[in-house]
Amino acid sequence: MSKQIIDKAEDNLLHTYNRFQLVLDHGDGVNLYDDEGKEYLDFYSGIGVYALGHNVKEFNDAVKAQIDKIVHVSNLYYSKPLAEAAEKLVKASGLCKAFFTNSGAEAVEGALKAALKYAYNKDGCNDHEIIAMNHSFHGRTCGALAVTGKAAYREAFEPLISKVNFAEMNNLGSVTELVNDKTCAIILETVQGEGGIYPADKEFLEGIYKICQDKDILLILDEIQCGMGRTGSYYAWQQYDVKPDIMTTAKALGNGIPVGAFVLNDKVAKASLVAGDHGTTYGGNPLACAAVSKVFDLFEEKNIIAHVNEISPYFEEKLDELVEKHASVISRRGKGLMQGLELAVKPGQVVNKGIDNGLLMLTAGENVLRLLPPLVIERCDIDKMCGILDKILCEEDQCLE
Ligand SMILES: *Cc1c(COP(=O)(O)O)cnc(C)c1O
Repeated sequence: MSKQIIDKAEDNLLHTYNRFQLVLDHGDGVNLYDDEGKEYLDFYSGIGVYALGHNVKEFNDAVKAQIDKIVHVSNLYYSKPLAEAAEKLVKASGLCKAFFTNSGAEAVEGALKAALKYAYNKDGCNDHEIIAMNHSFHGRTCGALAVTGKAAYREAFEPLISKVNFAEMNNLGSVTELVNDKTCAIILETVQGEGGIYPADKEFLEGIYKICQDKDILLILDEIQCGMGRTGSYYAWQQYDVKPDIMTTAKALGNGIPVGAFVLNDKVAKASLVAGDHGTTYGGNPLACAAVSKVFDLFEEKNIIAHVNEISPYFEEKLDELVEKHASVISRRGKGLMQGLELAVKPGQVVNKGIDNGLLMLTAGENVLRLLPPLVIERCDIDKMCGILDKILCEEDQCLE
């Protein structure tokens, strides 16, 4: 059965992913099941998407009810789910105005366009620069606007692939060095995900915030992976003495329904994108927004963030025991339920052995095992996960000898 499905997929899909040889069929709580009924403990959450876990009845009911009403209206009209999702997102972020997208990358594109337009409005120039971080990850699009023919859509944002300078995460001097009169924005993940789970240091992020304040440079914080409660607050930046001008969110925002957003503060909202400057056909559609709205409701009803703060110290403690015990583990890094173990062995091999043992995990960077469990995990799930990982790491330790 699995083999047929895998062959059919490989026959017809462009091969841009080396997928694990596993056909996932359904989920329940913190468990996933393949098409032959084998159970897997989920410590990857669809790459940080399933904050609430799988097959959550209240969530399913809300999405199904919306399907029976209306799925799509385009942004030419209003819908109640859109109004409600926007209100809840603005409230959770403490920012001012939201724009819904279909993915994370599209949220980042929108955030960059808002920053470019803000700078263009100030000096009418098109030569602004952006500072980003080494090892950052912000998505896979390549400036769709760069190849769009209508000049009016492009002008304020050109050159579309702006000059981007890369600084070192957690090295404030490397950022200061790059700042000049043309710098319009500094973009970073509050906690780097794909790059290897590197949380921004307090002095670093607060230092960048101060530079941005002093020079009217926009701070764009990408919370696509680290946001939505994962680190113990709705957004990871809320644990620092900073406030972004623009924030991006996606992944867990829709608990599996594809949706993202960028959110602007009042200053940028008032002086950047206006009617006609940006758009999307699907973005903010009633189905996606019904999901977003229900996610926020369930976060409140189930006290998800309090749970993350309650369970995270236990997760860290158990992972630290593995660091202590195994030669194949060098260190642990992370915040809340976004954790990475730096390994002395290939993390891909550990993930593969996890699958054989009924545990799904991720890699990050070169040598990091990345753990992004659903936010609803309990101590028993952590114990089970650490039991399996302990066994795998014992084998890995021996390979090192
Ligand atoms: C996943 C991710 C993105 C891209 O999101 P997509 O939905 O895959 O386009 C952008 N930034 C960060 C930090 C991410 O983790």
